[in-house]
Amino acid sequence: MKRYIMLIGLITQLFSAKAQKVDFSTYPVYDGNDLGLNYTPKSSLFKLWAPTASSVEIINYKDGDGGKEINRSEMKKEPNGVWSALAKTDMKGTFYAFRVKINGNWSDEVPDPYAKAVGVNGKRAMVVDLAQTNPEGWEKDKSPVFNQKTDAIIYELHVRDASIAANSGIEQKGKFLGLTEKGTKNADGLSTGLDHLKELGITHVHLLPSYDYNSVDESVTDKPQYNWGYDPLNYNVPEGSYSTNANNGAVRIKEFKQLVKTFHDNGLRVIMDVVYNHTALTEKSNFNQLVPGYYYRQDEKGKFSDATACGNETASERAMMRKFILESVMYWVKEYHVDGFRFDLMGVHDIETMNLLSKELHKIRPDILLYGEGWTAGKSPLPDEQRALKANAAKLDRIAVFSDDIRDGIKGSVFEHTDKGFASGKPGMEETIKFGIVASVQHPQVDYTKVNYSKAAYSKEPFQTITYAECHDNHVLWDKLNLSAAPNAMQDANPVDMKEMNKLALSIVLTSQGISFLHAGTEFLRSKQGVENSYKSPDEINAIDWSLKSQNKDVFDFVKGLAELRKKHPAFRMPSAEQIRKNLVFFENQQSGIVGYELNAAAAGDSWKKIQVWFNGSGEEKTVNTGKEKWISAVKDNLFEKKDNLTGSIKLKPYSCTILYQ
Ligand code: CA
Repeated sequence: MKRYIMLIGLITQLFSAKAQKVDFSTYPVYDGNDLGLNYTPKSSLFKLWAPTASSVEIINYKDGDGGKEINRSEMKKEPNGVWSALAKTDMKGTFYAFRVKINGNWSDEVPDPYAKAVGVNGKRAMVVDLAQTNPEGWEKDKSPVFNQKTDAIIYELHVRDASIAANSGIEQKGKFLGLTEKGTKNADGLSTGLDHLKELGITHVHLLPSYDYNSVDESVTDKPQYNWGYDPLNYNVPEGSYSTNANNGAVRIKEFKQLVKTFHDNGLRVIMDVVYNHTALTEKSNFNQLVPGYYYRQDEKGKFSDATACGNETASERAMMRKFILESVMYWVKEYHVDGFRFDLMGVHDIETMNLLSKELHKIRPDILLYGEGWTAGKSPLPDEQRALKANAAKLDRIAVFSDDIRDGIKGSVFEHTDKGFASGKPGMEETIKFGIVASVQHPQVDYTKVNYSKAAYSKEPFQTITYAECHDNHVLWDKLNLSAAPNAMQDANPVDMKEMNKLALSIVLTSQGISFLHAGTEFLRSKQGVENSYKSPDEINAIDWSLKSQNKDVFDFVKGLAELRKKHPAFRMPSAEQIRKNLVFFENQQSGIVGYELNAAAAGDSWKKIQVWFNGSGEEKTVNTGKEKWISAVKDNLFEKKDNLTGSIKLKPYSCTILYQ
């Protein structure tokens, strides 16, 4: 223990004494693509970039944790800060770690940052033959057709949440493989898991962090443990606790591939939630042990800066960090066939890096889907104008940002728990909803001065905006309504009204231009029992309760209908801002709580000639004027209900969506 503290002290001392003077731009850059393990059955070539080391060792082990070392050797110094070691035997199934000597002091033993397989808890890298990790038919694996980014309906799902409840009907609970099971049902015979995703009609499943993260002990398989996983350990390896055997690094690889393939075979695309903005460990991370300070930003005092509120922030603008992130995303696409990425705290990353990733990914996969959080969780030393913030969305190349404007416009501020939004009856939110309907592009009828957060259009094109009402962060929609939807301080929120508000909220998400995004379970009123930040809450809070699908079947049917409507009707997902400006006209001078617009659907290639969409966010029935023409209803007051010959004045129930067409 004492030695441990002394070592930390020494490293901190070395680092803080020197950090101020370190000009990381003088470090050599290696541009080869062979860092990490280069495996063949005949040999394994290991390469590491450690430019400040005077000596580097590779230590080989039989086991992923503990056990005796089987070999220790000095690595050979190569140009540009690279070290190499060649083993001329078949090393498959063995494990390895590195340590480096800097200024006469040895670092900790750490796993290869470029590891593609690891042992239990990601402590050591594993030598793996990737060709042997492919599930049956992998070479024929094909992503479902995806033509344009605004066609996406994203569903955000945590691997464990999907199946862990006793009523999921899924056998391999909490595992990647749980999501590959077919024909699973809840007690009432309604589909769960994979079949449910298919039934709902979403296009992309966005999995919460599924790379190897730090917080769950993979060696303890019988004790329930939970984490969202925003604490990355090994970026290029799937999480072990979601596999059936975390000790053998090949198993998790194969099982994650199996999940991807099963999704693809069932018409679903897969998005990885990636967290390159910080590492779970700071001083003790493999990055920092091997090249102190280099992979992270520092403040003016030379200390780790912390725009992530997690103790450190990575420095994507530095050549070898940029290269690391680029190679990592390319690897997930090439090796695992993933179809897109959601970048956590993308505002920490620099625009140049993000655009480079986008360019290279689009080269190999023109149909890749990229989006991220255009904000940070704290101050960063990198100037705002260089970072991938929401305000800079127009500078991002084919990358979307989450619209917190529409999110909070719909349901109220995530920070003020009792704040209402448009869908729960707050007046004055109409322009924010209009801003969201046009996917935050420039539109002549939006008064930007009245939008809740952004006072200007930040998206150049609609595919740069993710439209949503909730995600894993903050209260889920149903819990938020519980806290905020009461008509006044004397009364509780009325669950009947709340249900209509929930439907209205999701109807706004699924009819707006841009890219639609749903949080898992919202389609049947998922609750986390009021827990706002459930990142490490137990399964009782986080698990999807599949009985809710039966209890709230009407909500499920409605959301399913909306997804189908969106997919059938291109007018709701126009590909360009120019088309939106031309084909979407808001009705002016409406009553408080009313937003309505007409789509020139035929001009957007739709089978319908014209579409009118009406939202009543108020708690009163309202009468609106549809004009002199005759309309047919697709949706009337939150119900898919066909009525002919609607004309002139129509009544809109409280908290409702109505969609008419010709
Ligand atoms: Ca892990």
